[in-house]
Amino acid sequence: MIPMVDLKRQYGRLKTEIDKAVGSVLEQTQFILGPNVAQLEKEVAACHGLSFAIGCANGTDALLLALRACDIGADDEIITTPFTFIATAEVAAQIGAKAVFADICPDDFNIDPQKIAAKITPKTKAIIPVHLFGHPADMDPIMDIAREHNLRVIEDCAQAFGAQYRGKPTGAFGDIGCYSFFPSKNLGCYGDGGMVVTANKEIADKIKVLRNHGSAVRYYHSEVGYNSRLDEIQAAILRVKLAEIENANNARRANAAAYCRALAGHDIVLPSERPDCRHVYHQFTLRLKNRQAVADALSAAEIASAVYYPVALHQQEVFVKMYGPQEAMPVTESCCAEVLSLPMFPELTEEEIRQIAGVIINAL
Ligand SMILES: *Cc1c(COP(=O)(O)O)cnc(C)c1O
Repeated sequence: MIPMVDLKRQYGRLKTEIDKAVGSVLEQTQFILGPNVAQLEKEVAACHGLSFAIGCANGTDALLLALRACDIGADDEIITTPFTFIATAEVAAQIGAKAVFADICPDDFNIDPQKIAAKITPKTKAIIPVHLFGHPADMDPIMDIAREHNLRVIEDCAQAFGAQYRGKPTGAFGDIGCYSFFPSKNLGCYGDGGMVVTANKEIADKIKVLRNHGSAVRYYHSEVGYNSRLDEIQAAILRVKLAEIENANNARRANAAAYCRALAGHDIVLPSERPDCRHVYHQFTLRLKNRQAVADALSAAEIASAVYYPVALHQQEVFVKMYGPQEAMPVTESCCAEVLSLPMFPELTEEEIRQIAGVIINAL
């Protein structure tokens, strides 16, 4: 069986260091907001060339805290992509704001900057681009639109730790970058975890208060906050993984290149990387006319594959109930019908990639 992600192989590779890191937290017994969270925050901020990073409980909370820190709430609107995980838009609905969707570019699966302006209303407060599958969204035109209309930009970086756009790390473009450390993400821990990065001290201070029950000084509460802290054990694990994230991302890129070599010349749309971008291949996602036949053949060969995402957000029951029927998003809808993601993790071997490609080509 070749799974989508093999965390066992990863643990085998890093076991000595991870066991040591976890053991030292158990010895120190500082389990909430201890030294590993503080160090990881420094290290992640430094990776982005930013001054602030704040750990939180998961990637969904990172987005929620970001919206709250930008004072977004009831009756406000945010503009985002319909081709993403539910969390990106769910957080807006949780605080009474409305998620408005703009269609995507067919080549990188990310929000199409040219479709954003038409969605702006006097209620619009922010744009939430997602660097889906590890490929950066087209940030320069997105930032231009945001500046022109005085909108906040919150980057959903959950799938893109280490990605770059025009030489600069994603997460460092907008007002806030939001990370998830869910185990299968390209930087993942062994439970739930998340982080917010920002250059803005005022935003950073607000998020620190919000993640800890609206409290800057213990037992004094200035805001309605959350219990949303990054766990110390998870932070210790993440510091081990962060130290080798460049190697892990480079291994993903090498695997993507091997897939492209093995699958070239067939009736498959392969993932592309814009020349000014560094893709980190959180997912390796094909577009196929006969997706089901290929998925069935892979399954018969005991190879996992997955559809991210089968239903776009503008067509999800929750949003149709809330907002009524939505305008068609043709690019997104055709992607939903055609995408298939293949096993992708740093430890995947060339032999496995050749085997997977062989099964796909036979099934076309
Ligand atoms: C995983 C993910 C999230 C949510 O992160 P959690 O840690 O699972 O809460 C948000 N947005 C995107 C694009 C994701 O892939």
